[in-house]
Amino acid sequence: MGKASSIFDEVRKKGRDFMLESEAKTVCMRYGIPVTAFKVARSESEALRFADDVRYPVVLKVVSPDIIHKSDVGGVTINLKTPEEVRSAYRKILTNVRKHKSDAKIIGILIQEMAPKSIEVIVGATKDPQFGPTLMFGLGGVFVELLEDVTFRIAPITKREALEMITEVKAYPLLKGYRGQLPVDISSIVSILINTSKLVMDYPEIRELDLNPIMVYEKGARTVDARIILE
Ligand code: ADP
Ligand code: MG
Repeated sequence: MGKASSIFDEVRKKGRDFMLESEAKTVCMRYGIPVTAFKVARSESEALRFADDVRYPVVLKVVSPDIIHKSDVGGVTINLKTPEEVRSAYRKILTNVRKHKSDAKIIGILIQEMAPKSIEVIVGATKDPQFGPTLMFGLGGVFVELLEDVTFRIAPITKREALEMITEVKAYPLLKGYRGQLPVDISSIVSILINTSKLVMDYPEIRELDLNPIMVYEKGARTVDARIILE
């Protein structure tokens, strides 16, 4: 029995085949995968209160079952430093989203801790028709998109395999520390890979999972965006 069944059940009950970011991140938390602190605000005053709770600077994002790619519709605003900025971003996001999709159901606005910039990695999972759940790892941005510098393993993976995935990408030297840049916390990536492996093994109904990007620091890591798509 998995640790996140209540969330999977709820999403199913609502007839959705994908999780809201808040739901996907809650699933991650249950599996010990670190995510940026967040709260879903249902009003402007809640947004201001929650911004204090998660601490400035904050990020605001639309929470809607009708919007998968939030920034495509002007649904994401980052690096907000004051209550005034939060208030105007809150209004702006609602306007943007309504302009793009007037009938979009808006559940609320996600108030989220801003993850400091660092080296970005991506952990993904898909389902191979033959081998089942398969894990992917790579560094974010051009490394994945342009250079296709990624690596795959069939789940479940061992700690050793997780470490292999990390060390076999061409960009690995960047993680080890390069030209005066400090090395990042490889063990936190190992742990995210292993926990993601457990998650996709526990829930075969996951068709696609994307932790993209994950900011990795000298100590620890934080998942900035999480997507889970169900069969
Ligand atoms: P989308 O649904 O469009 O993929 P994201 O949640 O990925 O929306 O947000 C878009 C981009 O904004 C991210 O790829 C990242 O660069 C930045 N971003 C989002 N959330 C945060 C955060 N909490 N901290 C720092 N940057 C963030
Ligand atoms: Mg994203």
